[in-house]
Amino acid sequence: MKISLAKSAGFCFGVKRAIDMALKTSLSHKNVYVLGDIVHNEDVVREIEKTGIKKAKRLSSGKNKVFLIRAHGTSRQVIEKAKGLGYDIIDATCPMVKEIHRIVEEMDNRGRKIIVIGDKKHDEVRGIIGHAKQKAMVIDDKKNIPLAAIKKFKKACVVVQSTQNTEKVQEIVAILKKYIAELEFFNTICNPTRQRQEEVKKMPGQNDVMIIIGSKNSANTKRLYQISKSLNKKSHWVSQKEDIKAVWFKNAHSIGVTAGASTPESTTEKIISYIQALTSLTR
Ligand code: SF4
Repeated sequence: MKISLAKSAGFCFGVKRAIDMALKTSLSHKNVYVLGDIVHNEDVVREIEKTGIKKAKRLSSGKNKVFLIRAHGTSRQVIEKAKGLGYDIIDATCPMVKEIHRIVEEMDNRGRKIIVIGDKKHDEVRGIIGHAKQKAMVIDDKKNIPLAAIKKFKKACVVVQSTQNTEKVQEIVAILKKYIAELEFFNTICNPTRQRQEEVKKMPGQNDVMIIIGSKNSANTKRLYQISKSLNKKSHWVSQKEDIKAVWFKNAHSIGVTAGASTPESTTEKIISYIQALTSLTR
């Protein structure tokens, strides 16, 4: 059985950087708080919790406490609130997400309507819209474009959640261009996401079965899975080896494996070893 691992599988630089910053902060500070999960992966979250960093649902008094901002970033309101409560702030927002915040602030100040293409409930998107003073519009699918509102926009700007699917975004932008006379489009899908998506477009045709590794709450893993599934029905999204079923590999000669940006190498290695053992047993 041939098992091929995507070159782009696993941590992107933004996730690596956020984890490194969290580990360093845990060594130099006590009472470090993060709002939600540091990245969308259970294994990473467990490792970070072992360092003593605490996950908070909301911010309370920040005296002698550190507020660690996650790779996904956060809104201006949350940062102001944390400062007001007395927290020291360590900002692990990915530089690519910071750039989206900068564009939104600039365009907002220039009086343009702000449109974000992304998942309404995702933390990154919540953070992005929280950098505009106006109420930004979020579009998650071409079927859900609020045309009545869009037709009233004369000048607008579009930014994109960093892990969106390129084709899906282009379809939405093509529709928006028909209705908005002055539309500035910033394709803010990050490079690691683009590379991963390019690779996952090739692998499903070259392999009998595709395995996509990542947490069920990982937006970029979901996108990889959707692309793979559209090209090869035998695509499976797993977060741990227990999710794998031997029947998937029946009559298969080649397996392609990729992993989301927040999936640790150790998780991917464990899953590949498990598949190797499973497929050698069933042969
Ligand atoms: S997926 Fe892209 S934007 Fe998100 S943390 Fe990684 S590099 Fe940064």
